[in-house]
Amino acid sequence: MHKFYDDLKSYILNQEQETKELLIPYYETLLQLESYSEMKDLLNHYNEKEYQIDYNDADTDDPYSNGWLEIYEMHNPISYTIELDLGNMQGNYCQCNPEDEDYISDKGCCGILCDASLPKVSIVKEVKMLNHEFQGYERDLWELEEKWLTDYEKELLYKKKLEKVSSIEKRIEQLQKELNAAKSDLEN
Ligand SMILES: [Zn+2]
Repeated sequence: MHKFYDDLKSYILNQEQETKELLIPYYETLLQLESYSEMKDLLNHYNEKEYQIDYNDADTDDPYSNGWLEIYEMHNPISYTIELDLGNMQGNYCQCNPEDEDYISDKGCCGILCDASLPKVSIVKEVKMLNHEFQGYERDLWELEEKWLTDYEKELLYKKKLEKVSSIEKRIEQLQKELNAAKSDLEN
């Protein structure tokens, strides 16, 4: 087994029970991708450096996300994000009962197309293009920031006033047309 899968397995086994149960189905889903060329990219890079694996909880307001895994190495510009989502709902409302041939009593269901959302993963490769720190002293930055409060704010205000003038002009033009039409209607 590839080192990435070994490490991910250990990572999952070291989590709290709830997180462990959440991540296991995603491990199995990722394992199905083992021979995919896209996955090989990740696996090859993973071998080269000491990559870290980190799990992040989902945003609470996204019902289709179970969070994401970050695969990164501090000094390496290439990192990966594995999004852990829920696939589309499959099947119909569960109507299984204990007499069914495939019934699994632990689960109270036969587990085939009973309103299930299976784990779905997306792998995003990220390449950090460059690192750049502001060149200059802090006071240089203060001077530049000052422009935002004075010049740039004034520019924005001027643009807004200009837009207002142009919008009034358009309305006058439209009203002039309507006035002309109404007058010519009067003469007929
Ligand atoms: Zn069922």
